[in-house]
Amino acid sequence: MAKGEIVIDEKHCRGCALCVEFCAKGCIEIPGTKFTAEGYLLAVFSHPEKCNGCGVCGWMCPQFAIEAFKYVQPGESKEDRPKAEEPA
Ligand code: SF4
Ligand code: SF4
Repeated sequence: MAKGEIVIDEKHCRGCALCVEFCAKGCIEIPGTKFTAEGYLLAVFSHPEKCNGCGVCGWMCPQFAIEAFKYVQPGESKEDRPKAEEPA
């Protein structure tokens, strides 16, 4: 069961794949079939069930295009939770 979730801002993603590379859970993919309005490859949160809300993807994104949310209770949604903490 997912322990968190992320939201990828499609307006700011540039398809660099850093989030894909650094997500240890394999939650994010760049399928190559989805594009931003500006024509960049788009990252997709394709395995939300694996997400633990660690926030690493958001820290790595040079476009600040990812918000990560960590659940306290199973079954929560991002609306219930504050954003993941920034690294010290
Ligand atoms: S790191 Fe950011 S800009 Fe790069 S693919 Fe992921 S969401 Fe898009
Ligand atoms: S918050 Fe962590 S587990 Fe979830 S997608 Fe981002 S890097 Fe992967």
